[in-house]
Amino acid sequence: MILVVLENQRGKIHSFSKEAITAGQKFAKQFNTTLNILCLGENADSLKEEASAFSCDSIIIAKHNLIDTYTSDGFAKSLSDIIFDKKPKFTIMGHTYMARDFLPRVSVKQDIPFIGDLTSVDFKGEKIIFSKQVFNAKFLTNIEMDSSVESAILSFQSAAFSSGNIEIGSPKEIEIFDLVLKDSDVRITSEEAFKETSSDVDLSSANFIVTVGRGIENEENIPMMERFVNTVGAELGSSRPVVDMGILPKSRLVGSSGHTVSPDLYLAVGLSGAIQHVVAMKGSKKIMGINTDRDAPIFEIADYAVIGDLFEIIPEITKKMSNS
Ligand SMILES: Cc1cc2nc3c(=O)[nH]c(=O)nc-3n(C[C@H](O)[C@H](O)[C@H](O)COP(=O)(O)OP(=O)(O)OC[C@H]3O[C@@H](n4cnc5c(N)ncnc54)[C@H](O)[C@@H]3O)c2cc1C
Repeated sequence: MILVVLENQRGKIHSFSKEAITAGQKFAKQFNTTLNILCLGENADSLKEEASAFSCDSIIIAKHNLIDTYTSDGFAKSLSDIIFDKKPKFTIMGHTYMARDFLPRVSVKQDIPFIGDLTSVDFKGEKIIFSKQVFNAKFLTNIEMDSSVESAILSFQSAAFSSGNIEIGSPKEIEIFDLVLKDSDVRITSEEAFKETSSDVDLSSANFIVTVGRGIENEENIPMMERFVNTVGAELGSSRPVVDMGILPKSRLVGSSGHTVSPDLYLAVGLSGAIQHVVAMKGSKKIMGINTDRDAPIFEIADYAVIGDLFEIIPEITKKMSNS
């Protein structure tokens, strides 16, 4: 059997989990086996309602008051028990922060491999070949799974599969899995879920977006970028590290964990072009990059490449355009 584990995002199925369902459907066909969708813990019932619209053999609901809120130890124990009982050939999740947090624990508990952060899978006869990016997305590596492996946990990066390709249908069966958890199994407590603040930034409807990446170094350089976007008439976007460093707010984040955008012109400044960023902006009509590294992955999808130092180029364009 194939087991797809859904992640709850404010009572809805996380978008990465929908892609995992597409993956699960593909794996179930490939191995001529059943597809089972697991709704675990928090909001399991609402996830089940949403998942009931998808083609699968069964939906498994596993609830317990000790995992009403996500904790890595509670979820690891629960999923580990389910894998022990069901013995799926593959357990599949989207590669989210939650997956990265608790799947390694499941892997250790069950002594089965966790092959994470995958961008694709290829079935060549008996061989299963997974791909993932390494060295800051500069190389792609292939991982061939040993045929003796009976069970493995997989997590796929966003856009490895498309949620648009989910086969619609309905589960043949709904199963309740009785979790047995003790207080001592859940020693971690979660803080309240992070809530975004409302903002007046509207990246999704902007025609011209200039996005800054880690190359911007620190917040003291943001006024230089603000002068630039005001001069050229663009909206300012941000890559993930720039948000994580507190340099720009999350409302400006472009990527799989932020906004998806498709402006007429997208200018990526000091930004490498990792897959989680590119999936959300590759629909832009024209893409331009400014980067000191001529091998930066952003140049693979860019229409125009400017190889150079943003701290020289950006003020120079601002000056030229202000004078014209
Ligand atoms: C689950 C998950 C979700 C994620 N979601 C997102 C997301 O939504 N959005 C996102 O962006 N990332 C996301 N990431 C992170 C992503 O994997 C990359 O780490 C991130 O996109 C890299 O950001 P960056 O390009 O700014 O930094 P880096 O990869 O460090 O690139 C910096 C670039 O700046 C260039 N540079 C440095 N100095 C200069 C200079 N002076 N002039 C010109 N160029 C310069 C460098 O050559 C380099 O190419 C996610 C990761 C995970 C695991």
